[in-house]
Amino acid sequence: MTKIAFLGLGNMGGPMARNLIKAGHQVTGYDPVPAAIETAAKAGARKAGSIAEAVSGAEAVVTMLPAGAQVREAYAAIVAATPKGTLLIDSSTIDVASARAVEKLAADKGHDMVDAPVSGGVGGAEAATLTFMVGGSARAFERAKPLLEKMGKTIVHAGAPGNGQAAKICNNMILGVAMIGTCEAFALAEKLGLPAQTLFDISSKSSGQSWSMTSYCPVPGPVPTSPANRDYKPGFTAAMMLKDLKLAQEAAQAAGAATPLGASAAQLYGLFCNAGQAGADFSGIIRMLRS
Ligand code: NAD
Repeated sequence: MTKIAFLGLGNMGGPMARNLIKAGHQVTGYDPVPAAIETAAKAGARKAGSIAEAVSGAEAVVTMLPAGAQVREAYAAIVAATPKGTLLIDSSTIDVASARAVEKLAADKGHDMVDAPVSGGVGGAEAATLTFMVGGSARAFERAKPLLEKMGKTIVHAGAPGNGQAAKICNNMILGVAMIGTCEAFALAEKLGLPAQTLFDISSKSSGQSWSMTSYCPVPGPVPTSPANRDYKPGFTAAMMLKDLKLAQEAAQAAGAATPLGASAAQLYGLFCNAGQAGADFSGIIRMLRS
C-alpha cells in the first residue's frame, strides 16, 4: 500500500484515482472544485483542502491537471511541501518546456519525477486500460511503473524527461492529420457516388488504412462503435484535439521542425471549434469539410 496524493479529480483524474483506491492504495484527493472531491471521497479517497495538505505524508503524488500553467503552479507547492525522494507523476498533457522545467525543479529537490501523459480517454481511465508514455530517469520509471499499471494497460518508457509529452503530441499530430485526410476522402467519395461502406471495405484493406479509418471511422455504419454512429458525441472532443495540435505547433516552432500538415490541422480544428463544435467528437470535423 502506497500513500498517494492525487491532484486534479476531473474527467480523467477522478476514475484514475478510483482505480488506485481499488488496488488497495491510500489516496488523498485535492481539487479546487468541491464536487470533484466529494465524488472521490465516495469512492474511498481522503479529502484535502489544499495541495499542501494533500501531499503532506504522501509517498507519491499524481497530478492530472488541465495545462502547463496549472502544473507549474501546483509543482511549486508540491516540491515545497514534500520530503526529498517523493515520487512525482504528472499525467496531464502539457507543453514539453513546462514538463522539462518542473522535472528540473523536482530533480533539484531530490525527487524522482516522470511525465506520464496518457492516451485512451475517459473510457480508458475508467477501465484502467490507459496507455502511459513516460519520460524520466530509469529509476523514476521503475518506481512509477507499479502505480501506472493500476491505471493503465500499456506503459512505455519514452526516455529522458519530457519525452512522454513529446510522444503524446507527435502521436496526436499524426491522429489529427490522419482524421482530416480520412474525412476528406469520405466526403469526396460521397460527391463521386462511391458508397461509404465500399470505400471502407477497400481502404481498410489497402494503403489508405489507418486507426482513424478502422477503429474510429468518421461516417456512420462501417465501425458501429465510432462516434459517427451517435451524432459525434465524444469520445475525444475537438477542443482536446485542438489543444494537442497547438502543443505540437509550439514544440515544432521551438525545435525548428517543419510540420505544414500539423499546422493546417491545427487551423482546421480551430475553425471547427470556433463554429461552436468544441464539445463534439473530433471526427465530427467531416461535417465542416462537407460544407
Ligand atoms: P478536467 O478539466 O475534467 O479535469 C481537470 C481537473 O483539474 C479539474 O477538476 C480542475 O478543477 C482541476 N484542477 C485545476 N487546477 C488544479 C490544482 N491547482 N490542483 C488540483 N486540481 C486542479 O480535464 P480532464 O479531461 O480530466 O483532463 C486532464 C488532463 O488529461 C488534461 O491535460 C488533458 O489534456 C488530458 N487528457 C484528457 C483526455 C480526455 O479524453 N479527457 C484524454 C487524454 C489526456
